[in-house]
Amino acid sequence: MTALTDARPTGAPVVPLGVPLVGGAHGRVSGAGTEGLAADDERARSERIAAVRSGEIGSVHSWELVTAVDGPGTRMTTFLAGCPLRCLYCHNPDTMEMRRGTDVAADEILRRVARYRGVMKATGGGLTISGGEPLMQPAFVRRLLRGAKAMGVHTAIDTSGFLGAACTDEMLDNLDLVLLDVKSGDPDTYRRVTGRALQPTLDFGRRVADRGDTEIWVRFVLVPDLTDDEANVELVAEYVASLGAAVTRVEVLPFHQMGRDKWDDLGMRYELGDTEPPSVELVERVRGQFRAHGLTVF
Ligand code: SF4
Repeated sequence: MTALTDARPTGAPVVPLGVPLVGGAHGRVSGAGTEGLAADDERARSERIAAVRSGEIGSVHSWELVTAVDGPGTRMTTFLAGCPLRCLYCHNPDTMEMRRGTDVAADEILRRVARYRGVMKATGGGLTISGGEPLMQPAFVRRLLRGAKAMGVHTAIDTSGFLGAACTDEMLDNLDLVLLDVKSGDPDTYRRVTGRALQPTLDFGRRVADRGDTEIWVRFVLVPDLTDDEANVELVAEYVASLGAAVTRVEVLPFHQMGRDKWDDLGMRYELGDTEPPSVELVERVRGQFRAHGLTVF
């Protein structure tokens, strides 16, 4: 995810969605000795793996109800744990590892979606699946999208697109909006920012746009001395413009230091400690570059 949508500590407050389906709460095997316990653990482990594979459960970081971020209207944004990228400016480095999430049943999330369906409908909102990277858990996301759509709820994912190949056509059939984080236009800069290759993101955006029935909002995080180079921004803007009518909005998100403490808390090295937020003039220059390509920019 972009993780710089606004100044809120994204993903917090952490609200447990439900009891893990499998979490070590096995019945005591009286008189069976340690061998029985080991067998029980083994069975629980394989049941969990099967449930993860089928998407019945997923690793969830947190969820929150938000308005006017992560898509239109009032939304239930669910943050999944796990991300293949290592963005230098990540606002939520605690979502990078899947093991830091909690096992939650897809049905439990869908029950909550059903509970908020009224307010979602009234405000033109819906369900947004963010992260981390939602496409790290495609079977889980597939279930959520299918379930939400069956209730008539608007759906969105917030993704870097790096794992776009894991997003099936069926998933796209059940997706109204893709919040696509294009973190750089120049492949070298993209690698410097994320540690990964740019091309899968470009391919995914093109594939979604070519379908013509899924809307795209592009997000670009503006970091001084990292992503702000005029030529780099121009490459992003040209690409986004080439996606045509599918892109209805571009959000230029100014870098800030709100996530910094989390890096320290996790004992991870944070490289942008000396980086200042972009000036008003710089933000306007970059927004102007996107506007010059006929894009609607926020
Ligand atoms: S590392 Fe992952 S979660 Fe963090 S900003 Fe990058 S894509 Fe988003």
